[in-house]
Amino acid sequence: MRAIDVHCHPSTKEHSISIGKFVAAMEVLFGKPVKAKTEEEMANDFRRDDVLAMMIAMDAQSSTGEGIITNDFIAGLTERFPDVFLPGWAVVDPWKGQWALQELERAIRDLKLTGPKWMPILQAFYPHDHRFYPFWDLCQSLGAPVLIHCGTTALGQGMDGGGGLKLDYARPIPAIDNIAADFPKLTIVMAHPAWPWTEEAIAVMIHKKNVFMDISGWRPRYIPDVLKKEMKRRLQDKILYGSDYPGWSSAQCLDELQMEGVTDAVAEKIFHKNAIRALNLEDKVKRALDAQKIYRATKK
Ligand SMILES: [Zn+2]
Repeated sequence: MRAIDVHCHPSTKEHSISIGKFVAAMEVLFGKPVKAKTEEEMANDFRRDDVLAMMIAMDAQSSTGEGIITNDFIAGLTERFPDVFLPGWAVVDPWKGQWALQELERAIRDLKLTGPKWMPILQAFYPHDHRFYPFWDLCQSLGAPVLIHCGTTALGQGMDGGGGLKLDYARPIPAIDNIAADFPKLTIVMAHPAWPWTEEAIAVMIHKKNVFMDISGWRPRYIPDVLKKEMKRRLQDKILYGSDYPGWSSAQCLDELQMEGVTDAVAEKIFHKNAIRALNLEDKVKRALDAQKIYRATKK
């Protein structure tokens, strides 16, 4: 296994349904049409790159009115392709109240998803708003890590008013810093380099033992210099590899990362060791690698 990619979105038809009105601007941004793949084609992308992937559900219905990628769909991918997909990330719409809390518990307990992902910009909520504290309380008590988008987003980029999306929801301080302090046993992974608040994110990671970052969503060569420097030094145990597939392929990001002068020892940590430790993935990875052996044997 070359790496664990902790941050991937389905490239199947579900993807466009969940980001509806933002698709056209995304196509301009990435310079290519958002094309729906089959599940098999998607799985083969990761098989080719020798990467185990964690897929992310989607539900920002209350604020955007767009479609949902269900937690059952994400859990089903692991069932159908156990050699490719580790148990992924659940998503619930925080404005759906008690139902969302119950759905999140079901997704973790029954569907065995790893933890929830949150998109404060899209879901229009401040994670440190005490109305949402029951979610952090639940995850802490279940021992489930949370993945929270930080910094700007490609969604809405270049649209009038950024498609109505507000970036302020995704500032590491106060949002991440507050919930990390109030839930000290909750593992929090900030998704993306948190630009333009990268230094805030670095400060929170250095100060709070329970906070990590995935470096997805940015071509490694464009990761802010301050973060590139720290990920080889003080943050080498805190950074998790992620691509933000299907924007980029996993191999493309891994190759670029290795060109950034990361030593083999640090690359090993960022590519998989930190994810296994922070997200408690040891058994899940073992199961996936066993399934991989079977898959490869049958393909010969
Ligand atoms: Zn993403």
